Amino acid sequence: MHFEFATAGRIVFGPGVVSEVGPAAAHMGRRALLLTGRTPRRAACVSEALREHDVVITTAVVSDEPTTDLVRDLVDCARAKTCDLVVSVGGGSVLDAGKAVAALLTNGGVPLDYLEVIGRGQRLLRPAAPHIAVPTTAGTGTEVTANAVLKSPEHRVKVSLRGPTILPSLALVDPELTHSLPPSVTASTGLDAFTQLIEPYVSHQANPITDGLCREGIQRVARSLRRAFESGDDCGAREDMALASLFGGLGLANAKLGAVHGFAGVLGGMFPAPHGAICGRLLPCVMAANVRALTGRASDGEALRRYDEIARWLTGSVDAVAADGLAWVAELCQALATPPLSQYGMTEESFPAVINLTLRSSSMKGNPISLTEDELRWILEQSL
Ligand code: NAD
Repeated sequence: MHFEFATAGRIVFGPGVVSEVGPAAAHMGRRALLLTGRTPRRAACVSEALREHDVVITTAVVSDEPTTDLVRDLVDCARAKTCDLVVSVGGGSVLDAGKAVAALLTNGGVPLDYLEVIGRGQRLLRPAAPHIAVPTTAGTGTEVTANAVLKSPEHRVKVSLRGPTILPSLALVDPELTHSLPPSVTASTGLDAFTQLIEPYVSHQANPITDGLCREGIQRVARSLRRAFESGDDCGAREDMALASLFGGLGLANAKLGAVHGFAGVLGGMFPAPHGAICGRLLPCVMAANVRALTGRASDGEALRRYDEIARWLTGSVDAVAADGLAWVAELCQALATPPLSQYGMTEESFPAVINLTLRSSSMKGNPISLTEDELRWILEQSL
């Protein structure tokens, strides 16, 4: 066995830990670029804490999933203000922008120099600028992953800036920050977390550390995602989902993903659909296609055995097999009102282009079996 496990410089988890941002920032720099979501007042406690610790702030808003142009502008702004620290407070969109800015501040150049698939794929050799990542959604786990997903409107695709040096210096994961999420965002981001626990668990790059994290995270999603959706103030459910998101990030960063995310990067670049909503719609269809393909032509039974195991955790039944897990996931997605992808403009005409790009995406490499074009088309048909 051989594996590597890399994560953020430090992870602090728990209700109220956002209060640690001031003292931590003061140790890392003097002038912070503070990135927030489209409601900056949600980050008011962070800006106050930074000021109290004599950290000068330049604030910028990341109102949507970040584009290559936005990141270039943010880097210019950070340079003009001689920022030596990045603090990002928000959903995955804000944190990914923060990771990309921190990396480019020290490495120079523009996103396309480093982006995979559509860019020049140069390596990020220098350590990123110090970066404190504070998630306010429970879904992406990006505070502990080694990539930042950026949209290129010109190429109509989402791709990653990737490398170990992009990992944030500090992840402050405070479940209390997620209580204000409305049910639809709780659902879509929660299903992203769920996908990021299932895909690394069945990935052929899974390792004993990610296995433990995924097992723990899947069980927490099973007992708490519906509760968080139905009752946003349920502290226990929010804490479970914040942990599940963190564990999903640790899993994906160290064991790769699969076909759901292979599709999601492509579909997210072509249609205005939230990342988590795409994942939630695709998850049961990809699980079904994978189980069928593995049953028909896998060279060993390991991934199928893992799907059986997931089914037992989800249903709580010792006799459950993969098909029971699929039914459980499909029912969850229905209960969370996951919209069909046609709602975001996907049509059958787009299938050939989507399939072509998906086959090239980096996440496909983690899928437990190589899916045929017909199987990929079937998944899209089921998701319409
Ligand atoms: P998001 O950051 O786009 O946020 C979704 C919505 O929730 C936004 O409208 C935001 O304003 C709102 N919001 C955020 N926090 C809130 C709160 N506490 N209360 C109320 N509203 C709140 O969504 P996301 O799912 O967190 O992130 C999606 C992005 O992350 C995508 O671009 C996706 O590709 C990327 N991603 C990256 C990784 C990685 O490892 N780098 C992993 C998964 C996803």
